[in-house]
Amino acid sequence: MLQNLISNQWTPSSSGESTPVFNPSRGSEIARCPVGTAADVDAAVAAARAALPEWSQTPPGDRARILFRYKALLEEKFQEIALLICREHGKTLVEAQGDLRRGLDVVDMACGIPSLLMGQKLGQVARNIDGEAERFPVGVCAGITPYNFPAMIPLWMFPMALACGNTFLFKPSPKVPLTAARLVELFVEAGLPPGVLNLVHGGVETVHGGVETVHAILDHPGIQAVSFVGSTPVAREVYRRGTANGKRVQAAGGAKNFMIVMPDADMELAADAILSSSFGCSGQRCMAGSVAVVAGRAAEPITEKLQALAKTMSVGATDEGAAVGMGPVIDAVALERVQRYLSLGDQQRVEMLVDGRRHARPDQGYFVGPSIVAGVAADSGLLRDEVFGPVLTLLREEDLDAAIALANTSPYGNGAVIYTRSGGAARKFARNVNCGMIGVNIGVPAPMALFPFAGWNESFFGDLHVQGNEGIQFYTRTKVTLTRWS
Ligand code: NAD
Repeated sequence: MLQNLISNQWTPSSSGESTPVFNPSRGSEIARCPVGTAADVDAAVAAARAALPEWSQTPPGDRARILFRYKALLEEKFQEIALLICREHGKTLVEAQGDLRRGLDVVDMACGIPSLLMGQKLGQVARNIDGEAERFPVGVCAGITPYNFPAMIPLWMFPMALACGNTFLFKPSPKVPLTAARLVELFVEAGLPPGVLNLVHGGVETVHGGVETVHAILDHPGIQAVSFVGSTPVAREVYRRGTANGKRVQAAGGAKNFMIVMPDADMELAADAILSSSFGCSGQRCMAGSVAVVAGRAAEPITEKLQALAKTMSVGATDEGAAVGMGPVIDAVALERVQRYLSLGDQQRVEMLVDGRRHARPDQGYFVGPSIVAGVAADSGLLRDEVFGPVLTLLREEDLDAAIALANTSPYGNGAVIYTRSGGAARKFARNVNCGMIGVNIGVPAPMALFPFAGWNESFFGDLHVQGNEGIQFYTRTKVTLTRWS
């Protein structure tokens, strides 16, 4: 049974209850995750508050030294952590390594915190008066994360929050708590003082509550800021409840990402990129391309290539790091949801160009292979909903304008990609599509650590995104001092 980490001590949850953690490749239970309580959150906040005065006064250079040691430990344990992700999440080893590497990029950036926190000064801003602006930590911050990136998304949050001088309460997904615990344990090993980073498990709906930890975080007067990443309905509610309680909140939600293939595209490049975008991580990415819109005469060549590639993709167990093309989905609930959408396709008589159900292995993990559907109606769930599994919807439109108009009917606003050789088409697309992360001839246009992860519309609730300069702004507040000495 896993435990919470409070003041650098592993501590059992006060509930005594737990939920199972599965190995999705086998469908077998590999650990128990505690169902946290409001009392657990209270204890973690008390520890974080007690640690705040000293940590926030620690020179940024000294905080950076701990981050450098953390980075070194993450590099040293890179393969071990990647395999842990394979085991509890079901990603392939390459995907798990990518997950951790993207998180490490943020740690790299946070190591530069002394320069990143440099303020602004203007002497003689008025007669005999100097003005300066300096960034201060906001206080105790909390992070609530989803299951689909067990390393990257937690590492979006606490390394930068701590580098900025805040203390932190981390509430990971109960589906992937082993990676979470290891990430926290290594940070403590790197030299974090007690109470600076605390871990409280929980957040799965059980008969006894389970989401109490999340509600307790959102209601707690001792927490100043909350970072959330997860599905849109929960993100919206987290934002509403957290801000109603006077907190700063950034809440990233779900997505439906469109990819547009123009007739002049490099079809090999486009097919490879669409395939990895739609089926990488078994489609469980907020930036997964889930609708491909083929404009004009691009339809035949791209459809044939995608069909051929998807049919030959290998699907199999990933828990031992085997080199397969695609692993399972996270759990039985996710498998049932994907199957339900494919059945909806059957009922709506869509064209099932590739049917992933042939990879089903009842009683042997949560497997469904890549599926490609075409001929989907405008109001179908296959076009409108976030399926969050390996299902690609293929549509035809006359031209670029019609394709952009279709993409803009989505209420979400995470990513969109165009495949073309025309600079003019790419520019028109990038400027007119209504979402925050754009790719031109790119598979998944997820921004690197230096840029904000810039979801729009129903994909993001708040003002400042995670990552990049917006991440630093979120975890700090500005103090402006005017000085006159004569
Ligand atoms: P989820 O919303 O079910 O869970 C996210 C977090 O919220 C978890 O920690 C969970 O314990 C907690 N939670 C779940 N239900 C809750 C409830 N009713 N009340 C309070 N807390 C609750 O999301 P998930 O299934 O873990 O992750 C997949 C979702 O996350 C997808 O929709 C995906 O698009 C989204 N996502 C978005 C981004 C992004 O940057 N926009 C990145 C990754 C994932």
